[in-house]
Formats: sequence, C-alpha cells, structure tokens
Amino acid sequence: MLNSLALRKEVPVSRGELIEIGGSFRMPDIMARAGCKLVEVGTTNRTHLNDYAEAICVKTAIIMKVHTSNYVVEGFSASVPINELAVLADKKGLPLIIDLGSGSLIELQPFGLPHEPTVRDTLENGAHLVTFSGDKLLGGPQAGVIAGRADLIAKINRNPMKRALRVDKLTIAALGAVLRLYADPDRLAERLPVFKHLTRDSKELVRVAHRLAPVLSKQLNGIADVTIIDCMSQVGSGSLPVEVLPSIALSIRPISSARGTGSLLSRLSAAFRDLPIPVIGRVSKGALLFDLRCVDEENEILSQFEYLSIRNTPEK
Ligand SMILES: *Cc1c(COP(=O)(O)O)cnc(C)c1O
Repeated sequence: MLNSLALRKEVPVSRGELIEIGGSFRMPDIMARAGCKLVEVGTTNRTHLNDYAEAICVKTAIIMKVHTSNYVVEGFSASVPINELAVLADKKGLPLIIDLGSGSLIELQPFGLPHEPTVRDTLENGAHLVTFSGDKLLGGPQAGVIAGRADLIAKINRNPMKRALRVDKLTIAALGAVLRLYADPDRLAERLPVFKHLTRDSKELVRVAHRLAPVLSKQLNGIADVTIIDCMSQVGSGSLPVEVLPSIALSIRPISSARGTGSLLSRLSAAFRDLPIPVIGRVSKGALLFDLRCVDEENEILSQFEYLSIRNTPEK
C-alpha cells in the first residue's frame, strides 16, 4: 500500500504510533523498505491536528494513522480522531490510510469483550483505506486485508510487488469460509473458533475442570497436587493485548516434600509437552497452569493423561 501510493514521497505519522509489532516488524523499517519517507509528527504522548497540517507539503503522498494495538499511551496524552484527520486529508486532496492491526468486522461489546474499532466505523469516519489482519480478531488465516476506495485499491493491484505478495487459493478459501460466517453474527460464538474461545462461559469451564482434575490428580498422586483456580487469559497475537479475560485453570503444584520441586516442575511441564498430543501450559508462581478456555476436545486431553510418566527423582 505504501509503495503503491507513496513511493519516494512523504508520509506523516504521529510519534505516538511508531509501532513495533510481533517479530520485530517496525513502522520506520517498513516505510524505508516501501521506499517512503516517514515524517514524524507530534510527540510520543500528544499529537494534534496542527502537527499533521504543518507537516504536509508538496512531497506528502498520504496521511497515515496506526492503531496502537499492542500498547497504550496513558496519562497526559492526545491523538487526532479519524474524522478530524479525514477533513484535513480531504482539504489537502490526500488519501487517509488507517492501519487497524486487528480490525474487527463487528462490535465486540455485545460479546462481553472490550471495544475495538470496526472496519466499517473507520471507513464511515472518513478513512479512504483501512488495513487489517485476517488472523487476529477476524479469526481467519494469516492474510492482510485492504478495504476502501476502489481507485486506490486498483492502483495497489497494479503494483508489480502485488504478484509476490498475492495470497494463494488455500488462503482465499479459508478467508472466504470465515467471512461467510459473519453473515450470521448471532451464531459466530458457536461457529467461529476465535469467538467461541473469547466468549467461553466460566461456568462451563468449571465443569470441564471438575471432570479433568480428578483424573489428573490420580495420575500425579504423590508427585503433585491438582487444584482448580481462577486465572486470567491473555488474548494473543496482538489482538486485545492490554486486556485479560477471567478464566479457569488447572493448577499443578509439585508436592513440596518431593526432592527438588523446582526441577520437578520443569520435568512436569516437559512430560506434558512430550505426550503423543502435547499439552502445553505455563509456569506461574511455582505451579504449572493449564488455562481451560481453549479446550475443545476434552476427551482427547483426558486420553493423553494416561501416557504421563514422571520420574520422582532428579535425573542423574
Ligand atoms: C498485527 C498488526 C499488523 C500486521 O498484521 P499481520 O496480519 O500479523 O501481518 C499491522 N499493523 C498493526 C497495528 C498490527 O497490530
């Protein structure tokens, strides 16, 4: 998008939005590789409309705003809303481009989840192009989606780079299948895995926990205690990174009389990972935790426990 619309031109971006996303992809590097000149405007905590206006000159190609999806600037802070930037962009005849990062197609609050700007709202607020991920909140395959003004999209499609970046038919098939589910938003929570897991009812998780815990407890008899605890799920992939959702976990704590509980804990985690179908948890405050939010195949997990083998003495 940048290379198609702003090659050898300038792109003003707020200093508060110069993100690095997972895997060390950084906005300044992406600008450089796209052949654009990043023009930083405003300050880390506060950027005003006037900062953009003053940065615009004959060399400016687009105005870009980036959703800070993996951090928040709190306290004495200010950023320019999209509708105000859109007025400026229209006045100067420049495309306004919003990188939404996650980008949701639907309002998340009715699902009991925190608000995320939707693609539709962003376009209605005056953005000319919006970019968002296919595999974050959308719940589809890894892909990037560009939505907005047809003439700008056509120009991007004509870029020779497009051929190297085009998606294959498997991605298109998977994305198409996921998008069709959005035609019936009321059933998303039962049909789309990402929504199913984000909206999972704690009471149901307690029931799952009560079915798994006794089996595991028996299997780890004398080695570790298994308890059911409240925990917080962290939503991954930069989707809702500053939010945590209440959930239920199995907590597996090595019995303190066992020799070398620290190393027993790491051997326990390793034993679960070595199962025919690996079970991966996280270690927190001396216990191995299995957050049950994303457990779909309860019986599959149960069937794995019988293969557990943990030596109770440290390895020689
Ligand atoms: C995640 C993210 C991207 C990249 O999306 P991918 O689908 O992971 O490539 C771009 N911009 C922002 C702000 C993001 O959070």
